[in-house]
Amino acid sequence: MSGFIEGDDRNQATLFPERLDDYVAEDSPVRVIDVFIDDLDISGLGFKTEPNDTGRPGYHATTMLKIYVYGYLNRVQSSRCLEHETQRNVEMMWLTGRLAPDHKTISDFRKDNGEAIRLVCREFVMLCKKLNLLSNALVAIDGSKFKAVNNRDRNFTRAKMKRRLAEVEASIDRYLERLDEADRSALAADNTQRLEDKVAALKEAMARLKKLEVRMLEAPDKQLSLTDSDARSMNSRGSGMVGYNVQSAVDSQHHLIIAHEVTNVGSDRAQLAKMAKQAQAVLGRDKLDVVADRGYYSGREIRACEQAGIDAYLPKPKTSGNKARGQFDRSEFHYKADNDEYECPAGERLIYRFTRTEKGKEIRRYWSSACTACPIKNKCTTGDYRRVSRWVHEAVVERAQARLDRQPDAMRIRRATVEHPFGTIKSWMGATHFSMKSLPRVSTEMSLHVLAYNLKRVINLVGTRQLIAAIEA
Ligand code: SF4
Repeated sequence: MSGFIEGDDRNQATLFPERLDDYVAEDSPVRVIDVFIDDLDISGLGFKTEPNDTGRPGYHATTMLKIYVYGYLNRVQSSRCLEHETQRNVEMMWLTGRLAPDHKTISDFRKDNGEAIRLVCREFVMLCKKLNLLSNALVAIDGSKFKAVNNRDRNFTRAKMKRRLAEVEASIDRYLERLDEADRSALAADNTQRLEDKVAALKEAMARLKKLEVRMLEAPDKQLSLTDSDARSMNSRGSGMVGYNVQSAVDSQHHLIIAHEVTNVGSDRAQLAKMAKQAQAVLGRDKLDVVADRGYYSGREIRACEQAGIDAYLPKPKTSGNKARGQFDRSEFHYKADNDEYECPAGERLIYRFTRTEKGKEIRRYWSSACTACPIKNKCTTGDYRRVSRWVHEAVVERAQARLDRQPDAMRIRRATVEHPFGTIKSWMGATHFSMKSLPRVSTEMSLHVLAYNLKRVINLVGTRQLIAAIEA
């Protein structure tokens, strides 16, 4: 590492009575971090490794990366806290050779090396694969909402804006009424002045909200976040939050996260194929089984998986209210592929009538002419005929349902697999979750969390010494 600031030799005798190395236990996770990062092809991953031509030498990327991985593994994530740790934490001193970059240098490294840090996370997954810690059989895909630094009051959607404008308007009306009353009852002048000041402040707030409304309506998704412009309002377990939707593909054997991605789209519906293909690429398999919850259910996504050789297991959401109303459910109509027709509960044939396009999908329509004279029609439809729709690729969805029927345990395995990583990472993050702003930086932050999670998990599974030996092998 010539050309860079050199650290102390950790075996050198100094004021300490023993070597610095003696302060770090043989099975300390910090030793794994040291070996893992030293083993990486740092420049190949995209980190800058050329020394500065002029000025003061900088810190080498391996030093900075070690600081971050150690920090995230030990729930120290802010650059200021990491700066303090480099000055007082013996393990950190051991790791960096007693180098102590300032918080700005630490912060800039994470900011400027997002893509390379994501690749380091992937390198560790590849190491897990080399150690045969991935099952190669079943991967669970799940998404979880993580809070952004953006407060809910600093996020505006059309509905929120309408509500806030109405609130301010109501307050102005209220104060104006009180002003009228004050005029009529000849209240003290200072009281009137106080009310006038309140009305003026509310009018200012209204003008500010109107300006924000213009900015909000200019955004493609008609949403505005003032602190972190990429954060979006999304639903999480029945309540709203402003944050990001983190997608993960988790191996079912040891609950290791093999692929992850941060998005600011609240719905999981379009994420299945993308995440499944990422998991497939990591595992290097032509065939793969993935399991997800009903939030991922999309015919197009299941078809995209099937085309890539991935079998998806996920339940169909129950959106029809027919069953609750005591009417026949869609599942009670059986498709007969040979004749391309449906058989209804009355045993009548619903034949193909025409095809139309709905939301970009080609939908075939079927019904029977016998409906008008059907004795059980009141249990089937309130219209003249019960019409059944079928997507042209419906067979893909039916195969997925048949797979799930053969594997009733799939949903239990999914729950047991995905809830562990997200629960662990959120507990490490604390109440605030992300500390950085913007989608790329939040993605970097998540990669460091995922790397720390996987690292800790593998250390627990394999043991520090064995892991070090495997990395060095
Ligand atoms: S109403 Fe029509 S579709 Fe429904 S059960 Fe009767 S015949 Fe079959």
